[in-house]
Amino acid sequence: MRKANFVKSLKNKYKMGISLNLEKLEFAGVSKDRPLVMAGPCSAETEQQVMDTARQLKERGIHIYRAGIWKPRTRPNSFEGVGKEGLPWLKRVKEELGMYTATEVANTSHVFEALKYGIDILWIGARTTANPFAVQEIADALSGVEIPILIKNPVNPDVELWIGAFERLNQAGIKKLGAIHRGFSTYGKSFYRNDPQWQIPIELKRRIPDLPIITDPSHICGNRDGLFEISQEAMDLNFDGLIIETHVTPDLALSDAFQQITPEELKKLLDNLVLRKANIDNAFAMHTIEDLRRQIDKFDDKLIDILEDRMKVADKIGKYKKENNITILQSGRWDELLKHRVASGEKKGLSEEFIMKVFRAIHQESINHQTKVMND
Ligand code: PEP
Ligand code: MN
Repeated sequence: MRKANFVKSLKNKYKMGISLNLEKLEFAGVSKDRPLVMAGPCSAETEQQVMDTARQLKERGIHIYRAGIWKPRTRPNSFEGVGKEGLPWLKRVKEELGMYTATEVANTSHVFEALKYGIDILWIGARTTANPFAVQEIADALSGVEIPILIKNPVNPDVELWIGAFERLNQAGIKKLGAIHRGFSTYGKSFYRNDPQWQIPIELKRRIPDLPIITDPSHICGNRDGLFEISQEAMDLNFDGLIIETHVTPDLALSDAFQQITPEELKKLLDNLVLRKANIDNAFAMHTIEDLRRQIDKFDDKLIDILEDRMKVADKIGKYKKENNITILQSGRWDELLKHRVASGEKKGLSEEFIMKVFRAIHQESINHQTKVMND
């Protein structure tokens, strides 16, 4: 009985198996092989730019065309999209070039306008996903409509919020769902415009295994230099597709000029990707990997034993501090500890970022133990 309860609580804790009623995200005439590619400009700017970009992409084998019609911009007075005036241009792309079209919607009126012009795929932007009221409004507007919807991760690294958006759309009857991983806002300077935090899409995949995940290297990088590396990493993590901003004259783009590439550059990027297999079909390789995984499991067991012992010492310190009326935190000691751990980690090839994260977490757990002892 106790074991059953424990298992139940574990299941709750790790929230396994979210059951969504999903259908495969497939498009007639588009290869089912990885990666599913979507490309096109950040924004539709002029009819000419939309058509020229689409034509060049089509010539290079791209079938799904993205273009923002309504643009959520961080600051006002920048280009906020052409608005519904651009929808007939996308309709032309669909009718004349036979491509699938996709655009971002952020409210009911965007949904109605986009549907009116036969847009094939809609996506919900990162800022919108962060707002459950807005997502619910879009879900209500789409109730009873059969259209694939892609949902970008919310700007903040909150997998529950992302999952909540899928649930809202699925409850409105949308079955063709996909995720777009576009990275997460961080404060301060970084090579990335939006930190990839791969653990979040990996967790999404663990929770909803049938949900395809499309990586958006353009908004992760915010520059052209990192696009290939992020695309390759996405493929190595076995994600399903790529959405990459592409423009006939990227330097002249009215939004996100730094990260857009030409259709020719996109083709080169895609041609250079190495696609590895997700399943190990060779018995020898399988055996080797299993053996290595067993070694990892043993190390993880040892790590947990060591952490247990470390926390027992923390309990003793807590008891001693209580008896002698000393505060839990002496910040000088913490600062020194962190510096030493970073230095020893560096000698062993462990990055500063990793050591800081690990020891911050260990320190927090240690404080929790001491607080408990002191207040018992
Ligand atoms: C976009 O795809 O152009 C866009 C605005 O993306 P995000 O919502 O990821 O910022
Ligand atoms: Mn953009």
